[in-house]
Amino acid sequence: MDIKIWNTLTRRKEVFEPIHPGQVGMYHCGPTVYDDAHIGNLRAYVFADILRRVFEYNKYAVHQVINITDVGHLISDADDGEDKMTKTLKRLGKPLTLAAMAEVADIYFERFVTDLERLNIEKPQELPKASRHIDDDIALIKLIEENGFTYQTSRGICFDVSKFPAYGKLANLKLDELKAGARVALDPEKKSPADFWLWKFDPKLGWDSPWGKGFPGWHIECSAMSVKYLGQPFDIHTGGIDHIPVHHTNEIAQSEAACGRPLADYWMHSAFITLNHDKMSKSSGNFLTLQQLIDQAVSPLAYRYWLLTAHYRSPIDFNLEAIKAAQNALIRLMTIVSTYPDGGEADSSYLTRFQTLINDDLDMPQAVALAWALIKDSGVSEAAKKATLLDFDRVFGLKLSTVPKISETTVIPPEIQALAEAREEARQAKDWAKADALRAEIESRGFEILDQVDGYKVVEK
Ligand code: AMP
Ligand code: ZN
Repeated sequence: MDIKIWNTLTRRKEVFEPIHPGQVGMYHCGPTVYDDAHIGNLRAYVFADILRRVFEYNKYAVHQVINITDVGHLISDADDGEDKMTKTLKRLGKPLTLAAMAEVADIYFERFVTDLERLNIEKPQELPKASRHIDDDIALIKLIEENGFTYQTSRGICFDVSKFPAYGKLANLKLDELKAGARVALDPEKKSPADFWLWKFDPKLGWDSPWGKGFPGWHIECSAMSVKYLGQPFDIHTGGIDHIPVHHTNEIAQSEAACGRPLADYWMHSAFITLNHDKMSKSSGNFLTLQQLIDQAVSPLAYRYWLLTAHYRSPIDFNLEAIKAAQNALIRLMTIVSTYPDGGEADSSYLTRFQTLINDDLDMPQAVALAWALIKDSGVSEAAKKATLLDFDRVFGLKLSTVPKISETTVIPPEIQALAEAREEARQAKDWAKADALRAEIESRGFEILDQVDGYKVVEK
């Protein structure tokens, strides 16, 4: 059966044609690990996971990459301001060194992975860190330079968008309409406001390069890491909708300038979540983390269910009443599944209807509605319903075969607390093997440790 997906590049739904038959390579712009991800950010990865599962359901071999931005992402998409990681080092009172940056990035990276696990997101094959790919960035910038697309200013190496006539094709931007100061405050040394940093000089913090000490631009990191793991072109590139006009536009320009080939064949973007009708953002303080949901007795799987009830290209507004309703629906669904007998065979007519829906640009709201329609269908046996719903769950990822444990307050038994303290001691002593063994032991007893910048927390799994 064909899989149709909406391609931002062509602005239409297209039948997916893989580069290599039966295989799909996908790259998802990942988190900047300077803070916890908020639930808006996590929508981008639930979307990526559903996309992966849809391809797996269709028997594709999936190669999936989520990058970890641990250097080079400036606070503003307008290519200016401080590096996000540097800002965090200052906030935490840490020294401005690469070692301290890596230490902080590792903490938030682990917490990001924990969030992925809690949302039942399948672990991507690759989670490359930008700071470990500086040589790849430099090699790519050299190619772009050799092809004549760069110039140097006192602040760094810039990509010259005037040399790339197709600039802005993803977002349908017209270069001559990008007036100075309209989108980006014009740096007097930049030829165009849309020109962007490939390499940013920094005499104090960074890596040596042929142009001088500094660090790579955020866009070049994604171009370098995607191609390293997936080749050029690869199949699908995704991200949040905010990435269209700047980040992905710039990735396309520099990668095509380097190799003369497209970077990716399909570009997919998930819409934003607002919180109580306002933009969710770290700077305004209007955001929620997954941990904050858990603290309010909302299961991460309920959040996943709530996301499935909206199409990934629809903006949605988050509020606590809506998520509690989603949680009740999920609990009902799980309870119903648990009452059905085992041993049935999935209903082939429902399976086909399901596959048709998910293959139509991931119509998960209709797929969820189909699950409820199946439950109400008196023409299908309960055992067949169970088998069918568990088959759907390969894509939903809602762990429908388990009964949720959602408790307002969790009492941590003293023996678990003692194990957690022993693990923290092992971590302080950098005895990672022992720390990992103790974490596994804690998990096997139904609890998990969440590392935090200033310590750790134990919660029920
Ligand atoms: P960042 O860590 O800032 O690079 O963002 C990680 C991902 O979250 C990107 O794909 C963003 O497009 C996406 N994102 C940021 N804010 C929201 C939001 N409020 N709703 C949905 N996605 C978001
Ligand atoms: Zn990216």
